[in-house]
Amino acid sequence: MANFDYDLFVIGGGSGGVRASRISASFGAKVAIAEEYRMGGTCVIRGCVPKKLLVYASHYSEDIESAAGFGWQVDGARFDWQTLIANKDQEIARLEGLYRQTLENAGVTVYEARATVEDVHTVNVGGERVTAETILVATGGWPNMPDVPGIEHAITSNEAFHLEEFPKRVMVCGGGYIAVEFAGIFNGMGAEVTQVYRRDLVLRGFDEDLRKHAMAEMEKKGVKFVLNAVVERIDRETDGLHVKLNDGSTHVVDQIMFAIGRRPNTAGLGLEKAGVELAENGAVCVDSYSKSTVDSIYAVGDVTDRINLTPVAIKEGHAFALTKYKGMPTSPDHRYVPSAVFSQPPIGTVGYTEEEAVEELGTVDVYVSDFRPLKHTLGGGEERAFAKLVVNRANGHVVGAHMIGADAPEIIQGLAIAIKMGATKDQFDATVGIHPSSAEEFVQMAAKRT
Ligand code: NDP
Repeated sequence: MANFDYDLFVIGGGSGGVRASRISASFGAKVAIAEEYRMGGTCVIRGCVPKKLLVYASHYSEDIESAAGFGWQVDGARFDWQTLIANKDQEIARLEGLYRQTLENAGVTVYEARATVEDVHTVNVGGERVTAETILVATGGWPNMPDVPGIEHAITSNEAFHLEEFPKRVMVCGGGYIAVEFAGIFNGMGAEVTQVYRRDLVLRGFDEDLRKHAMAEMEKKGVKFVLNAVVERIDRETDGLHVKLNDGSTHVVDQIMFAIGRRPNTAGLGLEKAGVELAENGAVCVDSYSKSTVDSIYAVGDVTDRINLTPVAIKEGHAFALTKYKGMPTSPDHRYVPSAVFSQPPIGTVGYTEEEAVEELGTVDVYVSDFRPLKHTLGGGEERAFAKLVVNRANGHVVGAHMIGADAPEIIQGLAIAIKMGATKDQFDATVGIHPSSAEEFVQMAAKRT
């Protein structure tokens, strides 16, 4: 048998790569991992975690406003961006340290360098050739940027976490998760926010009712939408960035951020040379066990462009370890994956949208509730929440639950278990609600929407 330096060499220290390394090592594999930047990857360093901290920060403006209705006078409240960023950086550094510690404790060798694939069993890591029986690619994704004049003046979410000054006027381009979340963040912190989207309803792929509700709530909170438009050029002038759109309008802003999707990080990795098939967008093509078209090379997480979410990458990394080093072939389960958009208000969703259910399951029953959360009665906020269940009429199974409103992600996480287990609408109805809560709406939806 060939003698390799390692059983497993993982490229990329993000959620998927770290999980796969740690679990594989715990099953007895000799593991090394290479990370060229900071351990933790997109989610910990420049994604989910810092983003959610910023969402918390931005929501205080509303909380302070509604405090008066509950008898609190909060005078002279003032937001300081630099304090937030410094505190956020400290927390991210702490988390990064924990990731390193976890790997160390698991006996994984860490290379702080870029690794590329030389052949099916060899990587080049910082100039050193290292061999491994198996290579796992977990290099994640990177934001796309459009090819327009002046694009060097624009930022992506990567840079948004490190701005030295808080921008007073911001343009956010795109209509997906990141654009919607950052429009809310900047808006809550007091910036004037314009969101530019190339179609007429943001969050394509989500349930249509939810999308409409999300846009209406964001508009109420102050986000200005420019729809059916894209950026044509950006010029820096003395009074700010002049952004010209293809609808003929020009907007003057302090920052322009693009969130127009991400592409798998495979450029220059040497995968094609090793015989690994890549999709048109650069994603590593894998089978249901995350194996590429080369037997010794696997891939997990965003680089495979399956469902680009941290918890999915973690499941894929774990399933890989079980398959390879525990003798338990395990396919990551991509059905009924819940997700959240930390918009304001936030969205939680699991299962089929109404549109998907009609197309794939045929006849469905739909139940909705549009309500004003109790908190806003005294708080005075205009925010409304919306909850929806999609039921397969053929067997009564709830196949989709969607919510926009405070705590929606927390609520949907619990419902996702029931839905994944195949709960029926009758079983939802037989469940006693928690009163008063927004979650109880889901067990009290009596009338079908006609
Ligand atoms: P998304 O794929 O969610 O959205 C991309 C958006 O950009 C879409 O609205 C798309 O429009 C638009 N777009 C694409 N190309 C262009 C273009 N050339 N010009 C103008 N607009 C364009 O990407 P994001 O960048 O928002 O997020 C990337 C991924 O990160 C997501 O897929 C998600 O999986 C993950 N993520 C998850 C989060 C969470 O779980 N809360 C948070 C943040 C990110 P159209 O609709 O027309 O295609």
